[in-house]
Amino acid sequence: MSFGFRVTHTDARARRGVMTTAHGEVQTPAFMPVGTQGAVKGVLHKDLEQLGADILLSNTYHLYLRPGDDLIARRGGLHAFIGWPRPILTDSNGYQMFSLAAQRTVAEDGVQFRSHLDGSAHLLTPEKAVDIQARLGSDIAMVLDECLAHPSGDELIRPSMERTLRWARRARERFLTLYEKRGRESFSGRESSSEGVIVTNGGQAQFGIVQGGVSPELREESARGTVGIGFEAYAIGGLSVGEPTDVMYKIVAGTTRCLPEDRPRYLMGTGTPQDLVESVALGIDLFDCVLPTRNARNGQLFTSEGPVNIKNARYAEDDRPPDPACSCYTCRTFSRAYLRHLFQSGEINASTLNTLHNLHFYLDTLRQIRDAIAFGRFESFRAAFHQSLSRRLHDP
Ligand SMILES: [Zn+2]
Repeated sequence: MSFGFRVTHTDARARRGVMTTAHGEVQTPAFMPVGTQGAVKGVLHKDLEQLGADILLSNTYHLYLRPGDDLIARRGGLHAFIGWPRPILTDSNGYQMFSLAAQRTVAEDGVQFRSHLDGSAHLLTPEKAVDIQARLGSDIAMVLDECLAHPSGDELIRPSMERTLRWARRARERFLTLYEKRGRESFSGRESSSEGVIVTNGGQAQFGIVQGGVSPELREESARGTVGIGFEAYAIGGLSVGEPTDVMYKIVAGTTRCLPEDRPRYLMGTGTPQDLVESVALGIDLFDCVLPTRNARNGQLFTSEGPVNIKNARYAEDDRPPDPACSCYTCRTFSRAYLRHLFQSGEINASTLNTLHNLHFYLDTLRQIRDAIAFGRFESFRAAFHQSLSRRLHDP
């Protein structure tokens, strides 16, 4: 099965659709839980399947450094290695490399960096990022891009955006060489491409990434250039890095207008539940974010009435579920008082139960969004969603 995308319903700029990958379908708009090391921290794959996660995100940077993409290829690819039969997207290395790696030098050829694990030196080129993800065999591979810190001036953003475009051209070239010389459907299981790279998923798709900081002009230029190269779909990168929310929405609104209607649009690394609803309204189809899982481990629960910080003393004898409107296992079974006790005691179950709830909240919000779009009532859903969130004051 090869990659495809079909918009089934539209409601103003919001779209509902189905993305087809080599490992099954993804209902969009979709949220991808983040499984950095091939696992979502605190929960099992079977929990994710029960929660209705169609697709998982894994981090190329981490898997490349440990246990290594060659080792994973020899196990038949990432799906086989981690025991997850559904779609997987691997990021490009870019964001992690720029946030984690030490002694990083960006040059035209690629990025030189030292591993945050053992200090070993690596050169990552756009071609090498393609090869690593071919070995991993994810269903969606991302091109290598350069992520700038916010704020950066146009004098920094322009050369970086232009380099990302040149890298995207090289990445596409490499991808087509690996996959199309033998016909994309001819791969099955473990096979070496003509370039000597073990390709573990012949149906892999490649997404381009639009950069350009917070400059609408540079974003438009980047979008047109990336679309000109021609990828299966397009992502918006380099946002949610500290810019004000209204600036992010403005950039998303402008960029989605430059992206083709018939391809999925992926907003990388975003965001809060409100960000998801607002970005769907602007035409975004795919999201990933560490917020629901990371914040769960820190004791913050996202609820239909705003965040609940379970460690607060006010919950010590609160017998209500975390979110009375939620139907997840955690909310059906446990009280805030018990969850606070688990958190205060440092029990592993605190992370697991909080993560189950937060992922359910995110995935269920997306389910409601998809239904609302299908019934042509996304605007009223959006208004009710924001109203419910603002009903109670922020939990300190
Ligand atoms: Zn819940």
